[in-house]
Amino acid sequence: MNTSLVWFKNDLRVQDQHSLSKAVASGNRVIALYCFDPLFFEEDIFGFKKTEKYRAQFLIETLSELKNSLLDLNIDLLLYIDNTSDNIIKIIKEYNVTDIFIQKEWTQEEKDIITSVRKKTSTITWHETYDQFLFHPDDIPYEEFAKIPNVFTVFRKECEKKATVGPILAPLQPLPVANRIENNTKVPTLQKLGLDTFTVDVRTAFPFKGGELQAKKRIQHYFWGTQKLAFYKKTRNGLVGIDYSSKLSPWLANGSISARQIYWEVKQFEKEIKKNQDTYWLIFELIWRDYFKYVSLKYGNAIFKIGGILHKAYDWNTNNIALQEWIEGRTPYDFVNANMIELQETGWMSNRGRQNVASYWAKELKQDWRIGAAYFESMLIDYDVHSNWGNWMYNAGVGNDPRDRTFNIKSQTERYDAQGKFRKLWLQNQLF
Ligand SMILES: Cc1cc2nc3c(=O)[nH]c(=O)nc-3n(C[C@H](O)[C@H](O)[C@H](O)COP(=O)(O)OP(=O)(O)OC[C@H]3O[C@@H](n4cnc5c(N)ncnc54)[C@H](O)[C@@H]3O)c2cc1C
Repeated sequence: MNTSLVWFKNDLRVQDQHSLSKAVASGNRVIALYCFDPLFFEEDIFGFKKTEKYRAQFLIETLSELKNSLLDLNIDLLLYIDNTSDNIIKIIKEYNVTDIFIQKEWTQEEKDIITSVRKKTSTITWHETYDQFLFHPDDIPYEEFAKIPNVFTVFRKECEKKATVGPILAPLQPLPVANRIENNTKVPTLQKLGLDTFTVDVRTAFPFKGGELQAKKRIQHYFWGTQKLAFYKKTRNGLVGIDYSSKLSPWLANGSISARQIYWEVKQFEKEIKKNQDTYWLIFELIWRDYFKYVSLKYGNAIFKIGGILHKAYDWNTNNIALQEWIEGRTPYDFVNANMIELQETGWMSNRGRQNVASYWAKELKQDWRIGAAYFESMLIDYDVHSNWGNWMYNAGVGNDPRDRTFNIKSQTERYDAQGKFRKLWLQNQLF
């Protein structure tokens, strides 16, 4: 029997999922695969675990839900803590896989394994789809990625004028029960991934769980229940609580929800409830997200290099004491400290916080910005390769900021935490 394999990566949903929908339409038996890549749980060159417990836990929750949602479609999800080409080739042989459906990736570590399997499987038909964008690469007004503008505003305005957002795919119908296979693989625990268990900090601004249904629940709350979306632009620089911003980034990062789904939900909200600057601004931010993806498509591995996409030859420091002080929240700025402790205790930090701690690290201390980016990669629940490295380059002055700004942390603190509510929350036992 011919078999279509959906190899899940950061597209962990069943709705509006192009690879899955195409596999179902292939008429073959359909099976699904997710590999926890041990590489992503090892230490990086700076000594941080590439994935720390917060994101790993979110991923575990996401996959538990995905496994069940796929079972509702009579599709089995095979799960392995092994991402070697040998293991994948074994699966291909065992299940007589003829077609592989996968989200197209382009960053080095994400691409390497796909390239290596492709080389060893000449008889397989590959179906790779860009499925992580708001504006699909075929729909943007640039013939090649090399022509993507280096200034966000230019990109945004041209896309807003000329690009369209694709429709949401129709929900899938269950396949016949006969589609099922023998499958005893299980979602691993944190311990199995070599990580410590933890209890969720009650102060967290992100108390949510992973999974497609959880993403929908969040949209239901933020858009329809509280209608906070109608105030988004006014509150998005907040620091405390669950509703100052959408908090959709962790689900977007691992693909539990698509940017298109959020876009069309905003449009529905604008039709039924209210259309204003605030509702538009959520889409504006989704365009930023797309932009960093296009920047990495244009520049490839330069986004990980110390000179960034501008090839700047700045003198960077690498001071271990400064690093420990930054990580543990022992810098001269209590605002930086509170944010860093929040990250350490929860895996979350607001956008305002991220900009300030990054600017402090790279601009004020002039420390190698890649160390900061690598620490964020380790800790963030919502780590996304393009958004993280793109934003870090931007804040370090080696990326796309035409103004190359340094944040004045003192005035940022007075502006965004005048009463000290945020600092009190995270620096409980310390004077500030
Ligand atoms: C140094 C630094 C590192 C960052 N690392 C990441 C990362 O690894 N993953 C990540 O998703 N975001 C990252 N961001 C961007 C931004 O801080 C988060 O997307 C945002 O705080 C997530 O909260 P939210 O979902 O409530 O955002 P909202 O304000 O509700 O925005 C809605 C969505 O728009 C997108 N978005 C918003 N701001 C940005 C931005 N500046 N760049 C790209 N997309 C944006 C996100 O997908 C977000 O979920 C980083 C920013 C900085 C300054």
